[in-house]
Amino acid sequence: MRRPARRRAEVATRTAPAPAQRSAASTRPAAPKRRPLRSLATLAIVAGLVAAVGIPAYGALVPETDAKTIQQAAEEGAQSLIVASEVKSSVLQRDSYSATTEAEIAKKKAAAAAAARAKMLGSTASVNIDLSLVGPGTGPVRWPLAKITRIGDGFMSRGGAHHGVDLISPGGTPIFASTSGVVRVSQESYYGYGVAIVIDGVIDGRKVSTLYSHMRYGSRTVGVGTHVQAGQVIGLVGATGRAFGNHLHFEVKINGSLVDPIAFLRANAG
Ligand SMILES: [Zn+2]
Repeated sequence: MRRPARRRAEVATRTAPAPAQRSAASTRPAAPKRRPLRSLATLAIVAGLVAAVGIPAYGALVPETDAKTIQQAAEEGAQSLIVASEVKSSVLQRDSYSATTEAEIAKKKAAAAAAARAKMLGSTASVNIDLSLVGPGTGPVRWPLAKITRIGDGFMSRGGAHHGVDLISPGGTPIFASTSGVVRVSQESYYGYGVAIVIDGVIDGRKVSTLYSHMRYGSRTVGVGTHVQAGQVIGLVGATGRAFGNHLHFEVKINGSLVDPIAFLRANAG
């Protein structure tokens, strides 16, 4: 098999000297300063030639996304690095050539990065979900659904017993992480919440916890301990647990205190 070898070589050139390489170079007794440079340069030339011959449009179309993903992957170790690059190439081959405007290209880049990341982390979903989906917006806080068409019961309704907001949406609508953070809860049956996920993030020094519930069975893409990105697809709208119909019951806690999710989103999401 020649392709995996080629990808590995390419990854090596795109990544700055790995920690292992750096430390090896610094402890090497002879010619400590010039050698690492030379070997890196050689590697770059060799892999550059291979890449130029084998995958023509690869570097030209998606340099930034590529660098980011590889860097993220590098933090998680060499195994992930290779997996990420494999995911990447298949995504790019599928998507790169149809984009025309800059906005479209940016959107495709985000989708490619999301898919690579999700694949790298390993989705826990048993139903079919397009992992390349990304929620709208660019900031640290995002709306959990791409479109809010109808709001059901609001914050502190039902005599104060309703701790979130009901975002009414068709079953199967993708749900996006409202903030980046670490998944604290990811369960098929979480009290009356049914299928639910809780993400703990930090925004401006404050702990922001978001809860997504009544999700569709088998649709959770992330497990406990997973580090998610704002806008990452985490599951699908459903009606599990104590739910009257398909909707996302969404709660927000800041430093442990419940806040009105809609007010929070209106003030912060973008
Ligand atoms: Zn509710």
